[in-house]
Amino acid sequence: MTVEFICVGTELLLGNIVNTNAAFLAEKCAELGLSCYYQTVVGDNRERLLATLKTALERSDIVLLSGGLGPTKDDLTKETVAEALGVPLVEDAASRRLIADFFTRRGMIPTENNWKQALIPQGARAIENKNGTAPGIAISHNGRYVFLMPGPPNELKPMFTHSIMPFLRTLEEDVISSVTVKIVGIGESQAETMVADLMDAQSNPTLAPYAKTGEVHFRITAKAESEEAAAALIAPIADELKARFGEHVYTTEAEVTLEQALTELLMRKKLTMTAAESCTGGMIAARMINVPGVSEVFKAGFVTYANEAKTKLVGVKDETLRAYGAVSSQTAEEMARGAAKAAEADVAVAVTGIAGPDGGTVEKPVGLVYIGCYVCGRVWVKEYHFGGNRMKIRESVTAAALVQLRKRILEYQAKEGEKKDGREQ
Ligand code: ATP
Ligand code: MG
Repeated sequence: MTVEFICVGTELLLGNIVNTNAAFLAEKCAELGLSCYYQTVVGDNRERLLATLKTALERSDIVLLSGGLGPTKDDLTKETVAEALGVPLVEDAASRRLIADFFTRRGMIPTENNWKQALIPQGARAIENKNGTAPGIAISHNGRYVFLMPGPPNELKPMFTHSIMPFLRTLEEDVISSVTVKIVGIGESQAETMVADLMDAQSNPTLAPYAKTGEVHFRITAKAESEEAAAALIAPIADELKARFGEHVYTTEAEVTLEQALTELLMRKKLTMTAAESCTGGMIAARMINVPGVSEVFKAGFVTYANEAKTKLVGVKDETLRAYGAVSSQTAEEMARGAAKAAEADVAVAVTGIAGPDGGTVEKPVGLVYIGCYVCGRVWVKEYHFGGNRMKIRESVTAAALVQLRKRILEYQAKEGEKKDGREQ
């Protein structure tokens, strides 16, 4: 089955908003095993949308439209789709009720054009919009399927995932299933080299790498007649990746992030954490605090940007700063120790570096960063050289800090754990 998207909105053509809906839909359709050969952006213009629709209906089995379902004049997707299919718009009673409820709940009074949103092309089905007033619309027409979704991503995404995807799944006899193996601490090219033979050999399942900041993800995708059969095809490849990458694998669940994996590790080991950050300016703390429930393990974050802050908040010695500078292995070590002490945490990560664009010297160039990890009394410091602009460097440092801390906790626990486990038994 083929699918194509039409994203409606002059704002998209002008670059005022980024077409994240298309990226989202493309990923989901790939997951469903649908082939997508065309994606079009068209402005809020009846003639051009009509022409685009006619072409799409000729060449694709499924047409997904986003945007232009709202109550205002420039919202003309629904009217134009009805025209392309040669059917009138009729009122959908259920949608009218939902719109009335939506306004009542918010203590607002609908205007006349809000009721326009209860109109759907004859023969179509309205799809409830739990996050806004414009319902989505599903149409089956001459063997084609057309879906209209509201433009705001917070409305489109849940609607597609919960109401449209289950239906699309029934159109394909085979199921497509995938598992993502997420790896840290190994660069993209090295990681790819390590599994080149697997990548070359595969057609079902396929193995594809995706590089993220500080991480490499391998997605294993299989097509089979059932979920179980697909899982059986995926399992041996997933096991092989786990064997080859060992503890560099932090999860095989698509939804689990690095900060989540670290939080789980801390919880499992009953360790509390803190961070002392110079060039990342709180990004490490912010990433950790992305995780719901992290308060159990994350105690405090210090943004120690100026030298005085390093001294005052995390106890870096004046002599250290004078002798070695703020960007040094010695300072990173003292920041890590001092942060752990100040926050009374079991583990601490500290970063100090030069994010640029200015401030670099021959000895200490832009991108030079020291990451210190304190784990229950011991400290390790590692020197890094990152590339990219200021933001990219700060993101890379944040990822590297989480990776490094995870690694040190695993190593430490591997050694200490044996003793402890022995005692506990
Ligand atoms: P509304 O009822 O809010 O008017 P709508 O269905 O008419 O919804 P649009 O008017 O086309 O949708 O877009 C509304 C907003 O949704 C845009 O301002 C933009 O923020 C967001 N949006 C629209 N299309 C996209 C897209 N393709 N990708 C990301 N965001 C989008
Ligand atoms: Mg609109």
